Amino acid sequence: MAYFMIDIIKIYSINLRPVLKIAHHSLYNHSLKENHRFPMIKYELIPEQLIIENTCNENNFFSPGDIEDNVILLTHESNYYNSLINQKLERKEIRAIGFPMSQKLIQREKKIVQGTVECALNSIRFGISMNIAGGTHHAFSNRAEAFCILNDQAIAANFLIKKGYSKRILILDLDVHQGNGTAEIFRENKNVFTTSFHGEKNYPFRKETSDFDYGFSDGTSDREYLKKIKYDIPRLIDNFEPDFIFYLSGVDIIENDKLGRLAVSIKGCKERDRFVLNYCKTNKIPVQVSMGGGYSPLLKDIIEAHSNTFRLAQEIYF
Ligand SMILES: [Zn+2]
Repeated sequence: MAYFMIDIIKIYSINLRPVLKIAHHSLYNHSLKENHRFPMIKYELIPEQLIIENTCNENNFFSPGDIEDNVILLTHESNYYNSLINQKLERKEIRAIGFPMSQKLIQREKKIVQGTVECALNSIRFGISMNIAGGTHHAFSNRAEAFCILNDQAIAANFLIKKGYSKRILILDLDVHQGNGTAEIFRENKNVFTTSFHGEKNYPFRKETSDFDYGFSDGTSDREYLKKIKYDIPRLIDNFEPDFIFYLSGVDIIENDKLGRLAVSIKGCKERDRFVLNYCKTNKIPVQVSMGGGYSPLLKDIIEAHSNTFRLAQEIYF
């Protein structure tokens, strides 16, 4: 009960006027070797872009606090988490992550997770809230994979349920890669419905089973992509009747993405986001958005596609 009160006070003291709250922290842009294939700089350029073009101002951004270990342990196994924070992961476990291990990287991951948790509380208050990072859906309960160490939306989902804020959660994962970690974490959990729309031939090559999976074929274009998601998403939401949605808005579905195998245009990707956010708003279901992947060789395309999600949130909700 004490925790519950603190959360409520926190929600109400953040801001009484409805506003798009975006989690961001200087730790998000983690320095990597110059030729590293992960476009870390996007975590700095996107907030800059949103401010320069006047989509957002400084008041839209908040710095997440510190996450408590017991919140992470609602989702991740203690053996794994202790090995991680004590930097005792085995070499092959670190190799699977794809980032060099350091204390600063662990701090970064914890900050991002807390960002998503605080966003979820903001979403309950204002309808939507977004993290300029996160969507770490390849993190399993007991292992890390593919740039994902702690599963931010899974942790926040378990937090909402544990604290009694939510009873039925739907995770809508539209990143081009299957949300294998998320599927594993909630495999036995009837209160969380996991969905993943991804490239069938994209990583991970051995897919987990989500509550709903759909694999698009290589080269899927706007028309086919949008037709499918516009048919399935309302059906899935109406059947499960969630009281909260976590949306993973990866933009690695766009045509020139280095890792994705689909061929959706930036415009089509924007239409996808518009459809999802409109559906959540119209049905009054709070939604938290984490950014997920985007690996176009053109940095401007990554920034543009992700920025569209934030622009739409402002346009649709505020
Ligand atoms: Zn991805």
